[in-house]
Amino acid sequence: MNRSDRKKTRIIAIANQKGGVGKTTTIVNLGAALAQNGLKCLLLDMDPQGNASTGLGSFATDRASTIYDVLNETHSLAGTMIGTPVDHLFLVPGSTDLSGLDAELLSKPDRATRLKSLLKPSGASEPTLEGFDYVLIDCPPSLNLLTVNALAAADRLIVPLQAEFFALEGLTQLLATIRQIQGGLNPYLRVGGIVLTMVDHRNRLSRQVAEDVRANLGADVFETMIPRNVRLSEAPSHGLPAIVYDPDCAGSQAYLQMAQEFLQREGYRSAA
Ligand code: ATP
Ligand code: MG
Repeated sequence: MNRSDRKKTRIIAIANQKGGVGKTTTIVNLGAALAQNGLKCLLLDMDPQGNASTGLGSFATDRASTIYDVLNETHSLAGTMIGTPVDHLFLVPGSTDLSGLDAELLSKPDRATRLKSLLKPSGASEPTLEGFDYVLIDCPPSLNLLTVNALAAADRLIVPLQAEFFALEGLTQLLATIRQIQGGLNPYLRVGGIVLTMVDHRNRLSRQVAEDVRANLGADVFETMIPRNVRLSEAPSHGLPAIVYDPDCAGSQAYLQMAQEFLQREGYRSAA
């Protein structure tokens, strides 16, 4: 892949304070798809649940150091990175300890910008992660300090919306948080896209919600919709992204297509 502009690391966060809408499934498969395109990616698991880490084969008991240690400045980011089953995709695992970090950081003046200063030292607009094309940050289902740290560091935000009746609920609050962060902690933050997940094409309500979301949010919404597909939910228990576990299933095909759409939005063109 080639990008028409000069090469720099871009930081993408995925967030939605609603739980179980497909944040982790999306970021793991998007990261794997970008890596399969030859782009060097680093996934940061900022969720105490550690689902992205487990889904990439890193189990809690095997994790020597985690993003918690990096945020506490006892370990370096480089020293905490591990490989994954996907070439070019690296991981900084999450930890249950992260759930206490909110309280621990609260009294610190840099509580909202600690991740940003690790990824973009000296307030630079560009990260110093040599050789990485993308840093992908999985957020917990909350607008807590962990998510704020991710949004303060990110260049782009991807928002997954589950195609169900309450899809847009909570989006107002998320968009208000984004505006607040753009006005202070991070003027570089942009919405990189909204992706509809768990779409059931046979279900009239699901189709209706998809249409409503498109009517309300327009061009920000990815053309590609992720269908409800059981293979996507089976893959993490094998420690593999679905696009590796079963590349041909409908869910994987959708994520591969979404990754192409993402790359087009990012200004990449195929080398072929
Ligand atoms: P949390 O808010 O808890 O972090 P999340 O937003 O990261 O959740 P996921 O963990 O990606 O959401 O998905 C929630 C559950 O739904 C998981 O069990 C996942 O395997 C399953 N799932 C995600 N996307 C799909 C899909 N398109 N079809 C079927 N199952 C899915
Ligand atoms: Mg998750």
